[in-house]
Amino acid sequence: MSVLETKSAGEQYVKSVYETVKKRNPNEPEFHQAVKEILESLTPVFDKHPQYMEEGILERIVEPERQLMFRVPWTDDAGRVHVNRGFRFEFNSAIGPYKGGLRFHPSVNASIIKFLGFEQIFKNSLTGQPIGGGKGGSDFDPKGKSDREVMRFCQSFMTELAKHIGPDTDVPAGDIGVGGREIGYMFGQYKRLQNAFHAGVLTGKAVGYGGSLARTEATGYGTVYFVQEMLQDNGDSFEGKTVVVSGSGNVAIYAIQKATELGAKVVACSDSNGYIYDKNGIDLDTVKRLKEVERKRISDYVNEHPEADYFEGCENIWLIPCDIALPCATQNEINESSAKILVTNGVKAVGEGANMPSTLEAINVFLENGVLFGPAKAANAGGVAVSALEMAQNSARISWSFEEVDAKLHQIMVNIYKNSKQASEEYGCPGNLVVGSNIAGFLKVADAMIAQGLV
Ligand code: GLU
Repeated sequence: MSVLETKSAGEQYVKSVYETVKKRNPNEPEFHQAVKEILESLTPVFDKHPQYMEEGILERIVEPERQLMFRVPWTDDAGRVHVNRGFRFEFNSAIGPYKGGLRFHPSVNASIIKFLGFEQIFKNSLTGQPIGGGKGGSDFDPKGKSDREVMRFCQSFMTELAKHIGPDTDVPAGDIGVGGREIGYMFGQYKRLQNAFHAGVLTGKAVGYGGSLARTEATGYGTVYFVQEMLQDNGDSFEGKTVVVSGSGNVAIYAIQKATELGAKVVACSDSNGYIYDKNGIDLDTVKRLKEVERKRISDYVNEHPEADYFEGCENIWLIPCDIALPCATQNEINESSAKILVTNGVKAVGEGANMPSTLEAINVFLENGVLFGPAKAANAGGVAVSALEMAQNSARISWSFEEVDAKLHQIMVNIYKNSKQASEEYGCPGNLVVGSNIAGFLKVADAMIAQGLV
């Protein structure tokens, strides 16, 4: 019997779609990686429900509904002309308007936006909110730019993007390199172009003009809520645990805050240059001021805390022994060897705050060694979930209190955990939340696509 014959119909289907994705999207390794992870998880679904194969759901879901790429010209403070590339990939609108962040980082290209947009479909579905999947951004680097330069860039970017988005069409938000400042500049330009105050066209706005309380905290808090639920379900908690958090952006800062509040000691965090290790526990006020107000580097932390150490480079942050690891920096920051070191050092749980921070090999190391693993699509869904709550408040022209939003976020994270766990059991991989979250996210979108016909 040949190898092919031993494969189930689901396996053969998944393999053939994956081959087409690779052929049709050459030189896009991050996109291939994201597709591979999802497709492998979904095999048992196709074996159980061949209808999804007959409807061509996979072939459709891996192809964005629309891909926008555009020129973004702008001038620096010296009057010199620069040109960046803008992206918005509108992936799937089966369950709601396209929704997902904008990333401004020099590494941004079609592969990165495609992997992020693809993952967003399943993540957004998992939140239980009515939002489709999309992602965008630019290879513009806000680092080292003046406020005026960032403003001119954002205005130019929005001048094109405005033609394609809207509160019921496509609702961008922040991601790496896009925070409250950038959202503000883009919102101002959108309003000027439309001559209308469409509050719900962007999320992550400041609270004073339509933003939601707790949106800033949501991704980091949500990741910790998810891990808390996962620990609790296994008779454990954050209390007294040593935690390593990578990154020092929005996600990392509020993950550190919530983990500390729950009784853990966070001993390390990082930026793209290196990491700090503070055995006494990171002083979050210093990190917040350095990164949020002064826009400085994490290395400056040791000037104020001489008892802490700074190390150049990011990868070795995972050499620090910890009970819980929260990768909140960027994609593929934990490779196979880092995962093995974490396991050797006795890591009990990993919660992914960033998008796709663990390679496929690293994920396998965690799963094979019984580490409680909260995959990104589930664990970091809190940010976009509260974005959907921001949209709801904008539509109703009301604003909820911090406590109300935080309570809703907490419940959403608990539900994501429960639904992912349940799907993992139903499809024969109990406790594997990668499989569980991918299946739970997929089913809702697939059913909506079938209901809406071939569009
Ligand atoms: N960029 C975040 C994410 O990866 C948030 C997106 C949003 O709020 O729309 O989910």
